[in-house]
Amino acid sequence: MTLPVRPDLAGLHPYGAPQLSVAARLNVNENPYSPPQGVVDAIAAAVHKAAEGLNRYPDRDFVALRADLAHYLAIESHVGFLQVENMWAANGSNEVMLHLHQAFGGPGRKVLSFAPTYSMYPEYARDTITDYVTLPRRDDFTLDTDAAVAAIAEIQPVMVIVASPNNPTGTALPLSDVEALCHAADQVPGGCLVVIDEAYAEFRRRGVPSALQLLPEHENLAVSRTMSKAFALAGGRLGYLAAAPAVVDALQIVRLPYHLSAVTQATARAALAHHRDLQAQVDEIRAERDDTVRWLQEQGYTVAETDANFALFGPFEDREKVFEGLLERGVLIRVTGPEGWLRVSIGTPQEMALFRSALLEVTA
Ligand SMILES: *Cc1c(COP(=O)(O)O)cnc(C)c1O
Repeated sequence: MTLPVRPDLAGLHPYGAPQLSVAARLNVNENPYSPPQGVVDAIAAAVHKAAEGLNRYPDRDFVALRADLAHYLAIESHVGFLQVENMWAANGSNEVMLHLHQAFGGPGRKVLSFAPTYSMYPEYARDTITDYVTLPRRDDFTLDTDAAVAAIAEIQPVMVIVASPNNPTGTALPLSDVEALCHAADQVPGGCLVVIDEAYAEFRRRGVPSALQLLPEHENLAVSRTMSKAFALAGGRLGYLAAAPAVVDALQIVRLPYHLSAVTQATARAALAHHRDLQAQVDEIRAERDDTVRWLQEQGYTVAETDANFALFGPFEDREKVFEGLLERGVLIRVTGPEGWLRVSIGTPQEMALFRSALLEVTA
């Protein structure tokens, strides 16, 4: 039998990093800590309550959740201007990104990003028959802003997507760069949206700003966040976005009705209510990140500047061999980034001790 699979999808394999049961799972930038007991109890109680109403469809517009998200950002990033109308959410920021492509992408339209970056970006584009174009980052993984501005004028994309902190490099984008991108996007005749993917925002170092601050001045700016990393809720699947109401209106058109289940809404709201309890974990991960970077540098490695919960380090002549050697010792990291580099997610102190001793053995 011949299946009429789209020719551009034929023979492709689904994306996904290995999910292995090893001592230290440091390959997909998860939070290594379970949600604290108080948060687990609050989620369980909220889901129990939601279960009583599961015969009904959930609030299609998830208004209470959007209000909670706006309230959380007001505290986390000192932005007091966000209202329900500015907020959007979906099953992970991956789905938020897909909504953006469904609403703004499509045949004959281009999305611009800056490599190396998140490996899912080309997939959202492919799935929505949008052209995905990348410009290389500088050697230190910062953005070549002049080249970016020139490229926006030349290729006239519908969206410019920048992860900040960037995955897999950890690089944060200065606000002056975000502003330069927004101004360049303003000049694109058909309009152009600048999307800053702040999946790792909560891990940024002190003094590193969030692009959320710039929303009042830029109607063509959208900032996406997720509860997958800092909230220890990767399994809960909740990503969200803050932007001008017109952007959110466009996303409403393409979402499936009731895309956020009542269970998901209840889970996310319970976790948001406890965001202060989760802050201690984030602080520990940031401290462990800084210690890991220092240790790697002491071993003579180059480490990309990181504001995320992972570090990209190298160079290795044979990074596959180092990856395999670590895996044999129960440490799963990620072969990603330019040739010669490896990425390690920041785990618990015990996991990072295992990582350090395994790396010393493998490279001895
Ligand atoms: C982990 C990650 C996300 C989060 O995806 P979710 O679907 O929210 O789990 C988004 N963007 C980047 C760059 C990431 O690394």
